[in-house]
Amino acid sequence: MNRPNNKIMKHRFALGAFLFFCFAFPSQGVGFDAARRSMVDEVLSDAAETSSYSGSSALSPAVVAALEKVERHRFVPATLASVAYLNRPLPIGHGQTISQPFIVALMTDLMKVNKGDRVLEIGTGSGYQAAVLAEIAGAVYTIEIIEPLGKEAGERLKSLGYRNVETLVGDGYYGWPDAAPFDAIMVTAAASHVPPPLLKQLKPGGRMVVPLGTQFMTQYLMLIEKQQDGTLTTHQILPVRFVPLTGGH
Ligand code: SAH
Repeated sequence: MNRPNNKIMKHRFALGAFLFFCFAFPSQGVGFDAARRSMVDEVLSDAAETSSYSGSSALSPAVVAALEKVERHRFVPATLASVAYLNRPLPIGHGQTISQPFIVALMTDLMKVNKGDRVLEIGTGSGYQAAVLAEIAGAVYTIEIIEPLGKEAGERLKSLGYRNVETLVGDGYYGWPDAAPFDAIMVTAAASHVPPPLLKQLKPGGRMVVPLGTQFMTQYLMLIEKQQDGTLTTHQILPVRFVPLTGGH
């Protein structure tokens, strides 16, 4: 009778046990990678569905690559890591939220950021949007008004190796005059009006993306372009829902 060799059986058992553990308890990295890929697929399909609003038929390859790379689960509270790749906003404490991945992608795409650009973000929050921008731009400056959030995001971005992001705790309404002018400016909280200091800190030829409106009324994502002669053109992109821009202005 052909009896299986004991050594082979042992190896088979070890292989079986290994595979069982891989599938039953996927190492966090492997599970997150697959989840991130399906999040990007959802973002791409949202972008295709809203192309008539955004005026662009597809997200730029640089934006897609940044979304594929940045590990969103590192930017949400540990208790929410398992849902980090849902295409939706999530709470990050202090009554604030990390934006929906599709909105992050759309806003980044609208700014048409080039390698080497200097970019300002108002509302660091978790630091996720800053990380996405940092994958594409030369230098990212980001301001957060809630001190613990700003400090935590600064440490997080540093520990993840982002050397081209500068963080600041303060009121972003007034921008960052010492680092101005910027090629692009993004506001990730809803403002009642476009902050004049930010318009001043935008380079001619630059682009600003800002949600306008109040907390309880429809807000619209606006794209503002500063022409070479300094005149401004404004495009209303689509309705959105952001936490309010606070501060003393
Ligand atoms: N971009 C963030 C999410 C933004 S939520 C991310 O990727 O996670 C909006 C953030 O804007 C909040 O953290 C809020 O505290 C901050 N904020 C509101 N008003 C601000 C102001 N005047 N200056 C700077 N940050 C502000």
